[in-house]
Amino acid sequence: MAMKEKLIKNIQFSFVIIIVAAILIFLFRLFDIKGFLAEVENKTFDLRQQVISKYKEHNKDIVILTVDDPGYEYIVSTYGAWPAPRDFWAKLAGGIEKVNPRAIVFDLLFVQNFKAYGNTDKALSNVIKGKNNIYVSMNFDNQNEELRKAIELPESLNTKISGDTDFLKKAKYINFKNVRGIIPEILYGTDNIGFINIARDKDGIIRTKLPLFVYKDKFYKHLTLLVALDLLNLDSKNLKIDGDKNLILSEKDKRIIPMQDDGKTYLNWYGPAFTYEYIPVWEIDKAIDKNDYNFLKEKFENKIVYVGVTTTSSSDVKTTPLSARYAGVEIHTTFLNNILDNNFIKKTKGWIDVLISLILAGLTGVIVYRSKSVSVASLKVFILIVLYTLLTLIFMHYMNLWAPLVLPIVFSIGTITASYAIKYIITSRDYEHTYKLAVTDALTDMYNHRYFQEQMKLNIDNSKRYNTPFSLIMIDIDFFKKFNDKYGHQSGDAVLRQVAGTIKKNIRSTDIPCRYGGEEMAVILTNTDKEAATTVALKICEAVRQREFELATGDWTHVTISLGVATMPNNADSVQGLIEYADKCLYIAKENGRNQVVSEIRE
Ligand code: GH3
Ligand code: MG
Ligand code: MG
Repeated sequence: MAMKEKLIKNIQFSFVIIIVAAILIFLFRLFDIKGFLAEVENKTFDLRQQVISKYKEHNKDIVILTVDDPGYEYIVSTYGAWPAPRDFWAKLAGGIEKVNPRAIVFDLLFVQNFKAYGNTDKALSNVIKGKNNIYVSMNFDNQNEELRKAIELPESLNTKISGDTDFLKKAKYINFKNVRGIIPEILYGTDNIGFINIARDKDGIIRTKLPLFVYKDKFYKHLTLLVALDLLNLDSKNLKIDGDKNLILSEKDKRIIPMQDDGKTYLNWYGPAFTYEYIPVWEIDKAIDKNDYNFLKEKFENKIVYVGVTTTSSSDVKTTPLSARYAGVEIHTTFLNNILDNNFIKKTKGWIDVLISLILAGLTGVIVYRSKSVSVASLKVFILIVLYTLLTLIFMHYMNLWAPLVLPIVFSIGTITASYAIKYIITSRDYEHTYKLAVTDALTDMYNHRYFQEQMKLNIDNSKRYNTPFSLIMIDIDFFKKFNDKYGHQSGDAVLRQVAGTIKKNIRSTDIPCRYGGEEMAVILTNTDKEAATTVALKICEAVRQREFELATGDWTHVTISLGVATMPNNADSVQGLIEYADKCLYIAKENGRNQVVSEIRE
């Protein structure tokens, strides 16, 4: 019986495990838990960047000439409307050029067919064409070719990339079918053209830049990558990618841009919006009008000047890890700053994340194992997580390493939960085992005398409270002294055990079989009246009479028993009274020749 029960329990247990696992896998798929964890990890990146950005210095040579809200109003009132006519930008660029900036980078799109104020494109292209330190931007898109033919880009704009480029051709954010063309005079008049496409994470926040793009099977650089390579005097026509997806800008200085599988590069942020100096466009326009070159010199000499829009009404406003409102142009200056400082964030590899998580889970396990109380263990694990978080901050600040937080914490919390679940199961099993030992008779595997007494009391109480009957059968083996004498004590024990087995087989699961003492046994039958109890007693008596018992020697023999039955409330209403009545019946059964049941004392 025990074996079969165990087997059934194991099968049930396996079923539960399989169902739980299936539900977990289903939930994993349904709710994209991996993606969810990655998003939470991103949020921890934002928090860590917010902390460490306070201790970082941005490059003061990078300044932003901004079309902010007042600048926008100035342009509209002074030059007629927005977008500003192209000769306005020509005037600005020309004016700034006079004080020798290192670079002027237009983070504005000078798209074709824009003729709102007559054709002023020529004025702009004339300024740009002559200068190798002025840069302009373009944008890729996936516009249908029927609407706009995908143009061929000048050969001078693409870059030869050697090494591992397969992943880039598969990355969806950087492969484009079309391009938004700019004024032909500029497009074919300068090589200083870069692309400014962006990629947001799932939550809409921009944490990355795309250094490279793929168009018609060729590679093109981000505007800022192009600017940076020129500023660093590095080759911008030939680049290399190593096996770790690092874009190598300079082998000599170990200058790299690490990329993810999707072609994105995580930026290291220097601070919230307005970190870089903003110089309003109207101030500059007025200074040029007044020929105030001292002012221009102070602002722009030897500076890298990004020209961009920061109006709050413009769609150019982006959310970043550090600010909800962050101009696109400032994201580009951050990118430039990262390249110049060779200072990109690199994520740890997947297997390292798992390894770190396992180590933290292991430490959690040790803490749980060594701690006496749940609260102490939880506190220690909490401290462990805090220390680890501080460690990741140090990694991020000093090594630019993004070590995982979410996976190790999930592992750690999972371990503490699982440890306590297992601990609980083991102790409750231990308890069950000890309890079973305490109430069981070792020889017969029946309940012992103490348990018998407890159960008798309990049944009497219940019987009184609910007004239900219950019965007691006392059982004694016939001529057992002689049996022992004849076959030996060992055979006696064997028979005792087998009689107990026969008794157990012939009662219900709610009945309680006990060894009363010596070779006397008792069965408590809850909720059972005299008639039913007598039937059970007769059944047991008959079963013992019918079967053969194996001796220690291997021989077989017959044994008989005598039984007495007492019922509450018919015969008594106390433990003592019931036992006495059953004993008296048993005595009568012995007197009447044994091997029988007596359930009524007739005077
Ligand atoms: P009766 O038919 O009148 O019951 O005769 P009996 O010899 O069985 O008499 P009684 O019930 O008084 O005998 C008890 C004997 O049972 C004493 C002892 O030899 C034997 N006995 C009691 N406990 C054990 C036990 O644990 N193992 C073995 N082998 N014998 C036991
Ligand atoms: Mg006896
Ligand atoms: Mg006996």
